[in-house]
Amino acid sequence: RAKSAGGNRYERADPEADARAITRHGLTTALPAALDRGEFFIEYQPLVHLGDGTVHGAEALVRWCHPQHGVLGPDRFIPLAEHTGLIVPLGRWVLEEAVRQARFWTHRHADGGPLRINVNLSPTQLHHPGLVGDITDVLERSGLAPGALCLEVTESALIGAEEDLLKPLRQVAEMGVDIALDDFGTGYSNLANLRRLPVSVLKLDRSFTRGMQQHPADPVDMKIVEGIVSLAHSLELAVTVEGVETAAQAEQLRALGCDTAQGWYYARPGAPDRIHSLLLADAV
Ligand code: C2E
Ligand code: MG
Ligand code: MG
Ligand code: MG
Repeated sequence: RAKSAGGNRYERADPEADARAITRHGLTTALPAALDRGEFFIEYQPLVHLGDGTVHGAEALVRWCHPQHGVLGPDRFIPLAEHTGLIVPLGRWVLEEAVRQARFWTHRHADGGPLRINVNLSPTQLHHPGLVGDITDVLERSGLAPGALCLEVTESALIGAEEDLLKPLRQVAEMGVDIALDDFGTGYSNLANLRRLPVSVLKLDRSFTRGMQQHPADPVDMKIVEGIVSLAHSLELAVTVEGVETAAQAEQLRALGCDTAQGWYYARPGAPDRIHSLLLADAV
C-alpha cells in the first residue's frame, strides 16, 4: 500500500495496524481508572476430576467490561498491564476477589471437600517484592486454607529462572499453596529441570488436547502425553489438561492417566453462580 501511494518510505503501510496501535494506547491509558471504577470482573471455569466428573476447583479468568469496547478478554489487556506494571494492583485484585469467592464456596459446601481456586500470575508479579506478603495477607484475611489456592505460572516465565525468582514461589509453596506450570509443553524447558521448580501441578497446553480430537487420536501427541504423565507422576506432580472440547478427548486423556481437566466440554468460563450450582449438583 505504501508503494501504490508513490513509494514514500515514510508513509504508514498498514492503517489497520495504526488503528490497533491507537486502541492499544487508549486501552493502556484507561487501565488505571478502570481498576478504580471496578470495570474488571472474573469468570470462573471449573476443573473436573477425569475419573468421576466431580468438580475439583475453578480457574479465575479476568475480563474487562470496557465502556466503549464491551467485554475484552485478557489477551487484549494483560500484556498492556504487564508492560505498565498495572498488573501488580490488578493481579492483587484478582487474587483477593477469587480467594474471597472460593472461601464463600467452601463455606457453603463444608461437607463437599475442599474446592480449589486457581489464579494466574504473570512474570511481572513474580518479580514484585510484595508478592509473598500479598498472598499471605489475602489468605489470612479470607480464612481460606493455603492448600485450596493454586497459582498458575507459565512454563516460559520459569524457564531458566534464577534462584531469586524461584524464592518467593518456594516460600508460598512451603505455606501449602500449590504452584501449577501453565501452558506446559509450549516452552523449551528441560524436563529434568522440573525437579528444581517448586511446582506440584503440570497444566498441559491445549495444543496437546487438540491432537486427541482426531479419530484416531494423533499417535505422536498420545505418546507425548503418555510420557509427560508418567514423568509427572513419578515426580509426584498432578496433571491437568486444558482445552477439552469433546467427550472423546476427555476419554482419551483419562485413559492416558491425566488427573483433572478443564474445557468447553465441561463448561465455558462463567459467572460464579455457575460454579455454585455445579457444586450443588456434585458433578458436571
Ligand atoms: P490460561 O491460563 O491458559 O487460561 C485458559 C484459557 O483457555 C482461557 O482463555 C479459557 O477461556 C480458554 N479455554 C478454556 N477452555 C477452553 C476450550 O475448551 N477451548 C478453547 N479453545 N479455549 C478454552 P482466556 O480467559 O481468554 O484467558 C487467556 C489467558 O489470559 C489465560 O490463559 C491466562 O494466561 C491469562 N489470564 C487470564 N486471567 C488472568 C489473570 O487474572 N492474571 C493474569 N496474569 N493472566 C490472566
Ligand atoms: Mg491459567
Ligand atoms: Mg493454561
Ligand atoms: Mg493456555
